[in-house]
Amino acid sequence: MQCDLLLSGGRVVTVDGPRSVYEPGSVAIIGNRIAAVGPAAETDATWQAARTVDCRGRAVVPGFVDGHTHLFQALARGLGEGLSIWPWLCEFMWPYSIAVDPEDARVAATLGAVEALRSGITTVIDNHYAPTDPETVLAVARAVESTGLRGAVARGMIGHRTAVAAARGLPDALFRYSVDEEIELTRACMERRPPHSMVEIWPAPLNLSYVDQDLVRGAAELATEFGTRWHTHCSEGAKDPESYLEAYGVRPVQWLAQEGLLDERTTLAHAVWLDEAEIKHIGERRAGVSHNPASNAYLASGVMRLRELRDAGAVVALGTDGPSAGHRQDMFEVMKQTLFGQRQHTLDPAAARCEEALELATREGGRYAGTGTGHLSVGAPADIAVVALDRPHLRPLHRTVAALVYSARGSDVEMTVVDGRVVYEDGRCVLVDEEALLAEAQERAERLVERAGFGALTTAWRH
Ligand SMILES: [Zn+2]
Repeated sequence: MQCDLLLSGGRVVTVDGPRSVYEPGSVAIIGNRIAAVGPAAETDATWQAARTVDCRGRAVVPGFVDGHTHLFQALARGLGEGLSIWPWLCEFMWPYSIAVDPEDARVAATLGAVEALRSGITTVIDNHYAPTDPETVLAVARAVESTGLRGAVARGMIGHRTAVAAARGLPDALFRYSVDEEIELTRACMERRPPHSMVEIWPAPLNLSYVDQDLVRGAAELATEFGTRWHTHCSEGAKDPESYLEAYGVRPVQWLAQEGLLDERTTLAHAVWLDEAEIKHIGERRAGVSHNPASNAYLASGVMRLRELRDAGAVVALGTDGPSAGHRQDMFEVMKQTLFGQRQHTLDPAAARCEEALELATREGGRYAGTGTGHLSVGAPADIAVVALDRPHLRPLHRTVAALVYSARGSDVEMTVVDGRVVYEDGRCVLVDEEALLAEAQERAERLVERAGFGALTTAWRH
């Protein structure tokens, strides 16, 4: 039988229903779908491929899903250290967000997307919140798509300045649109990029704790109307549920549940500070949570209760939280940090295992994003990463999954396939002029740092 692409003879970790592993195995692809996956001898004998890639000495795994990132923050990498989430926002990220111009956002998103592809990420949920005029939002979506990546640009909506936002010191300049305007602008973007576009638009009230409740209602309604997910930051800092409780007399996730706004369309970033009832609600409604352990550790935000959320039924994906808080678009690092965070927090070395981390970064990520990706099964979208295993830090090789989660890193990815198309190989993203991109990003970043008044943050050695 004829196929377009055959990934032959690798250690194939499918993360399919029965969690099949074929060592050696092969994956046959026709168009944008997986046509066959199985033992190498059998599969290679059955399929005649237009192109065969020799994957001996490599792992073949589902492409990773980054459940929460902010690609526009790529130009601020390495600044804003030693702050917890609120000062980080107020002193660093808000001024940066206000200074970013549309062209900066497009270049940053392209850079972040390239970095993601180079580390085997095939889907990103890009929570874009500066600038949020439809032209820029659509340009960012086009930029992400032009690299070959799949995903969604979740348009950050802030609305008017609520009492909580004022009390917590959010700058005036952030509040450009009314609640109704935010909903209409997001709707306009969604109409241009309907569901099942390679890069969709999702509504994303920026943070449950300080945006207007009507904005959250409107976002959930839009998602239902269009058949997409919706996205928001949820209880990342300990003060988020406290300030909400003070203002509204109810905790934020409790309110979502009361209003009937919690279901499989809901994707919550962080969800660190939840009480028992909130965990139960998220689980019962099969809502999504993006766990971002590298960012949570960087900002000292706290440790998400992974075991309780998954036992309750929540769909937990993993996320990088962007180049400014997570610092690398690298799900290998995020998988490892997930396990280490849980173990340190519970003092239980068996609190979570490497197989679970890989499931969260792939299969559960696909459920969360609604893409049907994250597993190598016949008929599934062909989103695949090929990872080198022949390097000193990966040898000797006893268990493929342990090698992937504990020892491998993003730069070990040799090939990334999205929707059946090879978009990263031989050390470069094939659809992007990476050299020109890096030069433009550096130039724009330097001008931006100056414009935002961040000169002092770039000191080489701070005492
Ligand atoms: Zn975030």
